[in-house]
Amino acid sequence: MYKICKTCGKKVEIPVTTTQFDELLNWRQSPRKLTEIAPSLSAGLREMFISGICPDCWDVLIGDEADAGEE
Ligand SMILES: [Zn+2]
Repeated sequence: MYKICKTCGKKVEIPVTTTQFDELLNWRQSPRKLTEIAPSLSAGLREMFISGICPDCWDVLIGDEADAGEE
C-alpha cells in the first residue's frame, strides 16, 4: 500500500500483505496492536501509517529536539 506524507507530499510504500492491509484498515477498531498486525514494519513506517508523516519528516521533526543540546 502507499501513503502520501501529509508534510512533504512524498509517496511512501508501506510493504504489507493483502491480509495485513485489511487488518490495518480496521486497526483502530481492533484490539490488536500495529506491531502484532505488521511486525515486519519499521517503527518509522508504522508511524507513517498512524500519523501520515513519513520517516524522513519524523527525523526532521524529532531531530530538532534530539539535537537541541548541540546548539
Ligand atoms: Zn514527509
